[in-house]
Amino acid sequence: MSFTIHGLGVSGGIAIGVAQLMSHTSLEVSHLTIGPRMVDKELLRFDAAVAAVREELTQLKAETTGAPAELGAFVDLHAMILADPELSEVPKSLIRDRRCNAEWALVQQMERLVEQFEAIEDPYLRERKSDVVQVVQRVVKELQGHGRGTPKARKGSKDADQIIVAHDLSPADTISFKGQRFASFITDVGGATSHTAILARSMAIPSIVGLHHARDLIRDGEWVVVDGTRGVVVVNPDERVLEEYRLRKSELELERTKLKRLKTTKASSIDGVDVSLYANIELPDDVEAARNAGADGIGLFRTEFLFLDRGDMPTEDEQFEAYRKVAKGMEGKPVTIRTFDLGADKSLEDADRMKTNPALGLRAIRLQLTEPKMLRTQLRAILRASKYGKVKILVPMLSHAHEIDATLAAVQQAKQSLREQKIAFDETIEVGGMIEIPAAALAIGMFLRRLDFLSIGTNDLIQYTLAIDRSDEQVSSLYDPLHPAVLMLIAHTIYSGDKAGLPVSVCGELAGDPALTRLLLGMGLRTFSMHPAQILEVKQHVLKSDVSEIAPVVRKILRYSEPEKIREQIEKLNA
Ligand code: PEP
Ligand code: MG
Repeated sequence: MSFTIHGLGVSGGIAIGVAQLMSHTSLEVSHLTIGPRMVDKELLRFDAAVAAVREELTQLKAETTGAPAELGAFVDLHAMILADPELSEVPKSLIRDRRCNAEWALVQQMERLVEQFEAIEDPYLRERKSDVVQVVQRVVKELQGHGRGTPKARKGSKDADQIIVAHDLSPADTISFKGQRFASFITDVGGATSHTAILARSMAIPSIVGLHHARDLIRDGEWVVVDGTRGVVVVNPDERVLEEYRLRKSELELERTKLKRLKTTKASSIDGVDVSLYANIELPDDVEAARNAGADGIGLFRTEFLFLDRGDMPTEDEQFEAYRKVAKGMEGKPVTIRTFDLGADKSLEDADRMKTNPALGLRAIRLQLTEPKMLRTQLRAILRASKYGKVKILVPMLSHAHEIDATLAAVQQAKQSLREQKIAFDETIEVGGMIEIPAAALAIGMFLRRLDFLSIGTNDLIQYTLAIDRSDEQVSSLYDPLHPAVLMLIAHTIYSGDKAGLPVSVCGELAGDPALTRLLLGMGLRTFSMHPAQILEVKQHVLKSDVSEIAPVVRKILRYSEPEKIREQIEKLNA
């Protein structure tokens, strides 16, 4: 039977393929007391699950050939944890003596181990608890019959595209999809600028979030059409519907091919205003997409994604290699490396959302200023890479003058330590700040006086201005980029930067929305940073715009306080 589900389209385009259901990553297992006669069977079930995961890890290890050595070491570590009698034997005594079911026995033992890890002083060893949890998750999934945690594109089904259907995906899950050939992913929860949605856009694959019950309604292997532009999923489409979507899909592909012709065209408006179009990236390999789209540089490298699916912090050398690869790959074009924006939804562990609101908590630079070693390691790695290109440092989530000062002092210290070791770096490296907290936009003077450039993070700026959790689909209809308060803060930042002679860019999702290109141009924005997949379409809009005509209209728009009026005027501006 064919049916349709509606959600929030977060990455446009059409995908047609078969559903691949992703199991829940949950350690909420049932607590059962088993009968005495079941004990042997339960022990066998436990041993079989451990053996299956052992085999899975061996296979994974084989697949890491050619990948960075750390990846292999990471798999080895998990194999070692699995082989430790604390995990592979102790739960069996719980099954035997307390007659717990296998899942419960394993999770109980894990909780005991995690407690022991938490008491360890050494932060590296303490962090290893997340590896224990990940190994246990694999075994639990195996016991529950779900098998491999992160799905892989199925082999042998290359004629049918695969569409990931999940209840929720963490940014760590999503990042592990990069490099795999999924046609789309759709989820029950998630907001428009959740990091999962951002990753979907960065992969240029159609994606829909906030579908509520898709994971329960769709069955593995069913045919699905995903219309990411309209936020519609058609399950088991009939031949007529399929034909219509195939046609629209090929039209879209044709348009994309035509856009490719603009790759080397300079982004200048009709009246000769030059605009820089930069790329946002998450991994060093994304440089290829940035170059293919003709990006003028990297406006935002979200470094935290490099190691998010790995669960531990990278060393200075590992980071240096990653940053150098990007700096070299961009061949002298600017490369803006943002310091880790960890915390909130981009956590090395599962964020405990019940206790605190992580978006308002110890996130990004706040976290790094409390962990000076982590910051110093990253700054040294970025500085070392600055020798290989035009590297800049970008600091996320600043709101206080003392945070800027402390960060700049850390940069100076990192520079000094390199000088003492006679390690070369760019002495004139620029340091910029993200404007993504309303306080920062309002008290812009203290940023202008201390920093070399600014980059507006509209995703968080909207979240904090409107008090709307960007990853919560329940309030996603209230997440309004065109709210007059948001527009005022963006315009004020651009204007203030311009007046002070400090470069200002926008690197939030707004910069990649072609429907807002003219609005931002009219506000005076000249540097846009977005996913590589969006660059050519935005360029097309720049080429067709006359800034001298747009600017007075935008000034008028900024005086409106009625959202409807604003929308109406923007539509006119784009007509
Ligand atoms: C933003 O907040 O707009 C931004 C670019 O950073 P992130 O999406 O990584 O929080
Ligand atoms: Mg942000």
